[in-house]
Amino acid sequence: MRVYSIGVDLGGTNLRIAAVDSDGKLLAKLTSGAEVQRGRDFVIGEMCNAIESARVRFRDSGELAGIGVGVPGFIDMDTGTVVRSPNLPDWINFPVREQIESRLGTTVILENDANAAAMGEKWLGAGRNTDHMAMYTLGTGVGGGLIFNGRLWHGMNGMANELGHFNVEPEGHPCGCGSRGCLEQYASATAIVRMAREAIDSGDAPDLADGARGNVEFTARGIYQLALQGHASAQKIYQKVGRALAIGIAGMVNALNLPMYVIGGGVSSAWEAFAPAMFEELKFRSFIYSTTAPDHVEQDQKHTVVTIALLGSDAGLYGAARLPMLTSIAQT
Ligand SMILES: [Zn+2]
Repeated sequence: MRVYSIGVDLGGTNLRIAAVDSDGKLLAKLTSGAEVQRGRDFVIGEMCNAIESARVRFRDSGELAGIGVGVPGFIDMDTGTVVRSPNLPDWINFPVREQIESRLGTTVILENDANAAAMGEKWLGAGRNTDHMAMYTLGTGVGGGLIFNGRLWHGMNGMANELGHFNVEPEGHPCGCGSRGCLEQYASATAIVRMAREAIDSGDAPDLADGARGNVEFTARGIYQLALQGHASAQKIYQKVGRALAIGIAGMVNALNLPMYVIGGGVSSAWEAFAPAMFEELKFRSFIYSTTAPDHVEQDQKHTVVTIALLGSDAGLYGAARLPMLTSIAQT
């Protein structure tokens, strides 16, 4: 009998659920509004109903390995508790694993959403041929995930991988974490819009000001469109994104010497606009990168790959589904 599991990706706006078999084949996918404003009990109830209907549907065709749930925020891995989540205001010390397990009577693994995305890319995406990688997710904020020997690295108490709070500018823009100049303040969608507004306010970016006034959506995506159309101040903002990312990645390359760094999340679709500046800065910031860059070493030699994620917004969903399979493999 085929083994499958159910992955859940709970974002601020969407609740997505997928049934995936152990070969990574998608069996079913379902998306609904997260309606987090209706409270945590409502969201857990909706999640359990959707999981249950998927389970009933595949009852005769496979054995359920368990349920993996990706949630934004700090997770206590030992207890399966959401300690705090920026997108889910009333989820404070909320025992999500226990809540779902008691309702559905099956194994539940709770994971941070960026970690789940890293696992998805490792399993079926850019990292499928490596056992060690770091992943950056560039969205509203910047998240991270680290995989060593095919498994997620959680640190002492699950708080590892805050790659978005790596410092790239000591006296830079204040960050929500209390520090200044974190990567998140230069490489997230929020930061891109802020930097564009700053450029407009300084009077140095008349083309961006026109863009903001015109029909172009004034979002990170809209600013990317302006960059593609050749607007210099929009291009400059994405070059800033690339350089900030390079400083963050260089620190990781220097510390860990991993073979692969994957960049995902919505902002990664602007790869063309930020990657050239990123690669240029990486060679300057990390001697290890410059001596192991793919264009520096022979093809059969070990090299450092920095690349775009392949699974798009499904990475977290596939990664969440993978987690219970790994647990059951480890137990057998
Ligand atoms: Zn920070």
